[in-house]
Amino acid sequence: MTNSSCAAYHLETRLVHEGHERTPFGETSEALFLTQGFIYERAEVAEKRFLNEEAGYSYTRYANPTITNFEQRMASLEGAEAAAATATGMAAVTAAMMGQVQAGDHVVAARALFGSCRWIVEDLLPRFGVGCTLVDGPNLDEWRQAVRPETKAFLLETPSNPSLEIIDIAGVAEIAHAAGATLTVDNVFATPLWQKPLELGADCVVYSATKHIDGQGRCLGGVILASAEFIETKVQQFLRMVGPSMSPFNAWVLLKGLETLPLRVERQTQTAGFLADRLHNHPKLERLTYPGRPDHPQADLIKRQMSGGSTMIALVVQGGREEAFRFMNALKLIRISNNLGDAKSLVTHPTTTTHQRFSPEVRAEMGISDGLVRFSVGLEHRDDLLADLEQALTHV
Ligand SMILES: *Cc1c(COP(=O)(O)O)cnc(C)c1O
Repeated sequence: MTNSSCAAYHLETRLVHEGHERTPFGETSEALFLTQGFIYERAEVAEKRFLNEEAGYSYTRYANPTITNFEQRMASLEGAEAAAATATGMAAVTAAMMGQVQAGDHVVAARALFGSCRWIVEDLLPRFGVGCTLVDGPNLDEWRQAVRPETKAFLLETPSNPSLEIIDIAGVAEIAHAAGATLTVDNVFATPLWQKPLELGADCVVYSATKHIDGQGRCLGGVILASAEFIETKVQQFLRMVGPSMSPFNAWVLLKGLETLPLRVERQTQTAGFLADRLHNHPKLERLTYPGRPDHPQADLIKRQMSGGSTMIALVVQGGREEAFRFMNALKLIRISNNLGDAKSLVTHPTTTTHQRFSPEVRAEMGISDGLVRFSVGLEHRDDLLADLEQALTHV
């Protein structure tokens, strides 16, 4: 859905007001249209709606006013012409990739992808005759060498999950376009606040709205953002026919989440920066990676393509898996989970959970060691978080 009635306002203002169409009751907060379908006053109207000759809603798998409101606010946030909401982040990635290819085509993707995203390109697409080459994302030569005449789409995630490695979006976009292919960026770890892939040359951006966009651990959602033409020709029909639609209830929760997104993400990023500075040379840590620190191996690239750090920190605990478990189990305030972007601070051990299905060799390629703990910084007071991390590290 495309619209930008609040275009003249600043981001924070747009995130509170964009796309809000009040009903005749004049409610303050956005109405929730928890309905499967819509009725037509006359049979002729139904006919016209199905012929696309008259604007209006017909069925929530196609469109719904609350979902449209969420899509308009997301498009405004991202600076995209159009947005399409989906049931989950994975539905967004799947639709964005499947919508672009057919048997005989080829995709190139960065190796260090969220586990399920990697399954889509490496296992699912080949079942339908779509080839896939995985490359070392930061190495632009590998992207160039992977291109074939039938290459149609590139996919990457930056910062990557969970190693927080950075890929040059503008560099990869240039290679994709020279090959006549598109670039899709999974922008979850950067958040829409700190990185604008479309401005850097990407063609499509996907989010798991489950993460920072909800930000309070309540519901699943996803969204695809691109030009109106991309959404219309590559994504919309797939979504309408296949049906991974967002629930209007979830759209409403996520819409309210967008109102506070800048407040939450700014605070979480500040806290993450504070904790990273305090802990980067801790004797119990083999390494600490944070995209907001000058000692990040790709600090120059981060400066060029991101306007803020991240709400995520990657910690490598000395002594591998056993000591990583000891550290996690000793945490009192910070909880063990596989989620991220939440108001509650959460830690994950990727080797034994999100990236368990990969062999140790593949994990090593993805920058995932047994001591790695992914830390999603929440909204608690920074001193409480620091104290919890410091006391837990004494157990290592
Ligand atoms: C969580 C996540 C997804 C999948 O999102 P769901 O909403 O869980 O389906 C995809 N990519 C990244 C980077 C994620 O963090």
